[in-house]
Amino acid sequence: MENGNLHSDFLIVGGGVIGLSSALDLARAGARVTVLERVVCGAESSWAGGGILSPLLPWDYTEPVTRLTQWSAARYPAWVDEIAASSGIDPEYRQSGMLVLPDYDESDADEWCASHQVRLEKRRAHDIASALARDDASLWLPEVAQVRNPRLVKALRRAFEREGGRVVEHAEVTGICLDGNTVSRLETSAGPFSAGHYVIAAGAWSKPLLGEYAPPLDLKPVCGQMLLFKVEPGLLQQIVIQSGFYLIPRADGHILAGSTLEDVGFAKRTTVEARLELHAKAAALLPVLKNLAPVRHWVGLRPGSPENIPVIARHPEIENLYLNSGHFRYGVTMAPASAHILANLIFQRIQPFDVSSYDWPAMR
Ligand SMILES: Cc1cc2nc3c(=O)[nH]c(=O)nc-3n(C[C@H](O)[C@H](O)[C@H](O)COP(=O)(O)OP(=O)(O)OC[C@H]3O[C@@H](n4cnc5c(N)ncnc54)[C@H](O)[C@@H]3O)c2cc1C
Repeated sequence: MENGNLHSDFLIVGGGVIGLSSALDLARAGARVTVLERVVCGAESSWAGGGILSPLLPWDYTEPVTRLTQWSAARYPAWVDEIAASSGIDPEYRQSGMLVLPDYDESDADEWCASHQVRLEKRRAHDIASALARDDASLWLPEVAQVRNPRLVKALRRAFEREGGRVVEHAEVTGICLDGNTVSRLETSAGPFSAGHYVIAAGAWSKPLLGEYAPPLDLKPVCGQMLLFKVEPGLLQQIVIQSGFYLIPRADGHILAGSTLEDVGFAKRTTVEARLELHAKAAALLPVLKNLAPVRHWVGLRPGSPENIPVIARHPEIENLYLNSGHFRYGVTMAPASAHILANLIFQRIQPFDVSSYDWPAMR
């Protein structure tokens, strides 16, 4: 059994992209950090996601989402370079651009891109991606990037361990024990663990884990299914979006097609209906996919939150307990900013922008 009594300054619950990026920032600041993961790191939403480093239609979101995603997107190339250099794993960050096919609100897009210094071009679809079914007048966002999220999580873990961080897998946190208004220890399936500070980054499971200490948190799982195809590398090179459905091409010819948004609680299962629907939408955009069988079909539980605004904050009543969760559809994108904000809160450093929107709901 793992020695839970080895002292840590921080215990992070959850080995997804949010827990691991938070752990890495804290370890880089010189803290002794342990990540407790129920199963294995990076096997839940952070694995299942698509890795687009932008909201799907950025102009549809509020400023708190924009601030997190834009700060992160600007930091991403250097962040990934550092992680790749220290881990030896390349998460395949690539500025592949994003093509938005109709219907969209052009004036909203124009206004938002102009006011947020985002490059936007009006292009025919075939000028950008000739393999698409239709040559519609489209919006082209050339600066949007993507990352191979399963590799990113592996790289984050290794970079964290290289900083002296400790990962304990197969350690499910089952109880939070208080001494007055501070956490004294966590009960886990691998025994008790204690530290100076505790960070909950358990994705869709953060609210049930917090239990009686969660109200009035409004977080819930939102299920997403995805299909994977394999075509000739280079056939499609840009992310393509239409009416909430997207194709994400990887450099090696894999194409992700997603995703569903299902409010089905913690039930994590793929369905025939979703497979047929996603396949039909994929083939309507890219005809070559019509007679191609998907090579994989998977499902993940996003940590859903109102308006996609996460909570990155100290608990209002429990002094040494922090939450970094609720990133919903954009946790891979928001990871660098979320980790940075959390570390700033803990070390009382100046924040890069107003972070009051990410406070515990009762404190906003
Ligand atoms: C289909 C789909 C497509 C997506 N596409 C994108 C995209 O293109 N771009 C983007 O930015 N985001 C995307 N996302 C969203 C993104 O994946 C999530 O926002 C992000 O992964 C959340 O990270 P997390 O670390 O909070 O959660 P998770 O990755 O779910 O990690 C939480 C971890 O906590 C662990 N845990 C839970 N309970 C306990 C416990 N009691 N004890 C110990 N450990 C525990 C879990 O095992 C898990 O490993 C997508 C998600 C899905 C499902």
